[in-house]
Amino acid sequence: MWPAHTLRIGLATTCITLSRCLQLGAAMAKSKFEYVRDFEADDTCLPHCWVVVRLDGRNFHRFAEKHNFAKPNDSRALHLMTKCAQTVMDELEDIVIAYGQSDEYSFVFKRKSNWFKRRASKFMTHVASQFASSYVFYWRDYFEDQPLLYPPGFDGRVVLYPSNQALKDYLSWRQADCHINNLYNTVFWALVQQSGLTPAQAQERLQGTLAADKNEILFSEFNVNYNNEPLMNRKGTVLIWQKVVEVKTKEIKLPVEMEGKTMTVTRTRTRPVPLHCDIIGDAFWKEHPEILDEDS
Ligand SMILES: [Mg+2]
Repeated sequence: MWPAHTLRIGLATTCITLSRCLQLGAAMAKSKFEYVRDFEADDTCLPHCWVVVRLDGRNFHRFAEKHNFAKPNDSRALHLMTKCAQTVMDELEDIVIAYGQSDEYSFVFKRKSNWFKRRASKFMTHVASQFASSYVFYWRDYFEDQPLLYPPGFDGRVVLYPSNQALKDYLSWRQADCHINNLYNTVFWALVQQSGLTPAQAQERLQGTLAADKNEILFSEFNVNYNNEPLMNRKGTVLIWQKVVEVKTKEIKLPVEMEGKTMTVTRTRTRPVPLHCDIIGDAFWKEHPEILDEDS
């Protein structure tokens, strides 16, 4: 018989050996290189904030030149941008509204989204890559006679907005930017294309002019009422989720005696629908209260 204390030492030794085995097991599962994971920066977006990802075309001035975009607005290019934004909203999670103009698009994620644990880099890179691949994928649907000459790129940024008012002000800022640029470009290109001014002369002519002056030039010299210009050009594009009734014609497979007959099938789907309306005033937000809903 072993004395009691020998038994205790024996048990203790077994416990130490077991714990060494477990440590070794853990070490084998987690290679010695595992520590490099700690170098990854934490980029979790602050809770309860609206997460906005804004994309902007890389060097699109040159891209537009090379691909013969119409001036001041190329509706093919604008519709392609919107198609890409719709694809982003369809493919990714939790986007409640998007706003686009020119070569930029902003996407707003739900305040309470927990997609990819709210990591900013995941939001931004998923939006940018999905958008850019869509731009190439759908190019031919919008530019039938114009081949894509080189791959376009988009930069992205993430901005957090802690209140509904700040988010609305952000979107208003982008729409005001759309208006300012479009009014300028409309007069600028009228002066170049219709009055034969060089770009430098047109720029000089417009230097220091106010919105009213530009409207006056358009009206008196080109007989253009700026307010009658297409809404898409003046307001940009807002994408919101709306119920859409889709009607499809289907051929009936069976029964045999009815072969070849067609029938129409309707179904309701929620889709990202483009609107070209004012989002600066209150009317839009009153009409669509679900966008800023607390639970969104
Ligand atoms: Mg750009």
